Amino acid sequence: MRLLEERIKKDGQVYEGNVLKVNSFLNHQIDISLLKAIGEEFYRLFDNEKITKILTVETSGIPFAVAAALFFDVPVVFAKKHQTSNLNTDCYSVNIHSFTHGNDYQARVESAFISAEDNILIIDDFLASGHALKGLLNICEQAGAHVAGCGIVIEKSFQDGGRMIRDAGVRVESLAKIKSMENGEIIFE
Ligand code: 5GP
Repeated sequence: MRLLEERIKKDGQVYEGNVLKVNSFLNHQIDISLLKAIGEEFYRLFDNEKITKILTVETSGIPFAVAAALFFDVPVVFAKKHQTSNLNTDCYSVNIHSFTHGNDYQARVESAFISAEDNILIIDDFLASGHALKGLLNICEQAGAHVAGCGIVIEKSFQDGGRMIRDAGVRVESLAKIKSMENGEIIFE
């Protein structure tokens, strides 16, 4: 997606440890016209899949899931990272390793919100080593739901998550694919 790649080139910042910061337009402050274009592009890609629900994980996946859901006109479910008193205990849960924080967390989705009748589109902001996506796929598997595919805003294809998940037979569509970001220079596929 040209618009997204141009914006990443202009405003993305490369940090140590292969981390790309997009805080000025996607992850902290959000450019709404870009967000809308991202939602529309996911809709164009998965329009013929009869999606019933979009699944993501809090926090940074939520805006993109919601932007897409407005076009699909389906609910968004986001996996929660903390057990809170208002979260029903009847949950699907999975342990996920966090790329950005270096720790593990438990992602939970109330079992009432995903079922075997669902055809799910999983959406997330980044795909790096694939732990977050694998966790969300696992939650869908626990629910017996079908996964139509995964929509990723930015894939760092020099990390092996994308290859691993595609090799497992899952459709993954990434709007921007970064093949390298050595010495601060971002190169797209
Ligand atoms: P993975 O589980 O594929 O290793 O990493 C995906 C998750 O880590 C995403 O949900 C995203 O929030 C975070 N992440 C991974 N790489 C980056 C990055 O370069 N920049 C930012 N801002 N987040 C990242």
